[in-house]
Amino acid sequence: MEKQSEIIRVTGLPVAAGYNWSAGSQMEGFIKALAKKKIMGAKCSKCGYTYVPPRSRCGKCNAKIEDKDLVEISGKGSLVGYTTARVELDGAGNFQDLKKPKMIGAIKLEGSDSTIFMPIEGIDPKKAKEGMKVKVQWREKAKGELADIVCFKPEKS
Ligand SMILES: [Zn+2]
Repeated sequence: MEKQSEIIRVTGLPVAAGYNWSAGSQMEGFIKALAKKKIMGAKCSKCGYTYVPPRSRCGKCNAKIEDKDLVEISGKGSLVGYTTARVELDGAGNFQDLKKPKMIGAIKLEGSDSTIFMPIEGIDPKKAKEGMKVKVQWREKAKGELADIVCFKPEKS
């Protein structure tokens, strides 16, 4: 038997395909503050643990974290750990050597108890050490996007 197929066209149905996506209230506060070149964290009102980026529930004591718990965090911190990438994917699934190694650091900002993972520039991977002081490098014109944080650089540069 020959397989039959047809194209079904549907018109006029009241299909509502709209959606709302929210990063959550605290994360929204974090992203909006980036436009002002500020880093916001969430300080748990019950146990005091401070998260960057903010979160809506404390992972330590399970207390709910509210918008009022957002606090400004320093753009300075220290390197807790790091890794160096020497290859990257070329977009077609192949590895290619990087002209210059790229560093990714786990950074603990002053006033935060958690760490964030960010690109590191201006540090020779051979000379990188845990505990090195780093500071945020902002995009010249911040737009309220995660990309406003370009990287972290050594504090003395
Ligand atoms: Zn807590």
